[in-house]
Amino acid sequence: MTIEPTPHRLTTPRSLIEAGLAAPERLAELEAVAGRYAIAVTPALAALVRPGDPADPIARQFVPDARELIRDPAESDDPIGDDAMSPIRGLVHRYPDRVLIKLVAACAVYCRFCFRRERVGPGAGALSAAEFAAALDYVGAHPGVWEVILTGGDPLTLSSRRIAETTRALAEIPHVKTLRWHTRLPIAAPERVTKAMARALVADGKTTVVAVHANHPRELTEAARAACRRLSAEGAMLVSQSVLLKGVNDDPETLIELMRAFVEARVKPYYLHHADLAPGTAHWRVPIARGQELMRLLRGRLSGLATPTYMLDIPGGRGKVPIGPQWVRSDGEGTHVVTDPRGAAHLYVDRLGADSRSGANSDTLA
Ligand SMILES: *Cc1c(COP(=O)(O)O)cnc(C)c1O
Ligand code: SF4
Repeated sequence: MTIEPTPHRLTTPRSLIEAGLAAPERLAELEAVAGRYAIAVTPALAALVRPGDPADPIARQFVPDARELIRDPAESDDPIGDDAMSPIRGLVHRYPDRVLIKLVAACAVYCRFCFRRERVGPGAGALSAAEFAAALDYVGAHPGVWEVILTGGDPLTLSSRRIAETTRALAEIPHVKTLRWHTRLPIAAPERVTKAMARALVADGKTTVVAVHANHPRELTEAARAACRRLSAEGAMLVSQSVLLKGVNDDPETLIELMRAFVEARVKPYYLHHADLAPGTAHWRVPIARGQELMRLLRGRLSGLATPTYMLDIPGGRGKVPIGPQWVRSDGEGTHVVTDPRGAAHLYVDRLGADSRSGANSDTLA
């Protein structure tokens, strides 16, 4: 598939230093990481960096770091176990009602914490026309597939023409009702999310969802918000995806600002991912207990509408599950201890009345 290049990207250590995103003395460190993993920063994101601040939450997400070359023994090239669930190249079928198709391996930017970092990059393979046709056949032959998730890489790096062809081909499959595109483009290169691209994503009678990836409120610039509004105006439903990242968004104020910024851009906060066990990403992870504490702090301070679900993709392809704080402890016999947003515990007992039809109580129904 043809990928549209984003002009003027920074893709080498030298260009990052010349643009002021990294100190000159870090050249050797950056070169060492560049030998292993792809680098790219778009002008829109480079413009957000505050030069000279080594802790800048935008720069940190894209500027290589020597710690990326340290591998924890639990880390894996395939951290969420896609390979075992991949019946044909480029397609992952883990849940009965939805499949994931990796259309392209390229992205407009390369995030240093990427969970698919061993598979994405400018040189890695996109799906050929024949492979995409095979994926379509697979979806067509599985009537249980209600949703197709287009991912990669970043599938919105394709031209609007190729996106429209993909949408059209999938929309022809009667049992496919929902198309979901996972992308960072509205943040990374908002000018490329044109009205034509927004139109290419939608099809009559189907629901299009765009899952927008951003991790820090500063990423939701006026231009990024306008890109989201263009997608929404053509009829796409927008949801968010973020990764909980040490030093970027692991404090309640930043998370609240980020989630509110999403809603202001018409994006419904969906998932806050616990960082996956991708190689060389240990320095990004926070303890799950801290993630739960952050979610507890959001409850009561942030609109429910703006609150995402904290998720872990269980290593080995076991699936995604919510790992947020527990608000209720139950004895299994209808007695519960519920915690309020301030941390105080309250007793709650099921009061069910009688079942008028059968006289059965909840025990026999369970
Ligand atoms: C994450 C993922 C999905 C989507 O999961 P949702 O919980 O519906 O967002 C689907 N298939 C695979 C293989 C995935 O990894
Ligand atoms: S945009 Fe997504 S797929 Fe691409 S590098 Fe970032 S996290 Fe990975």
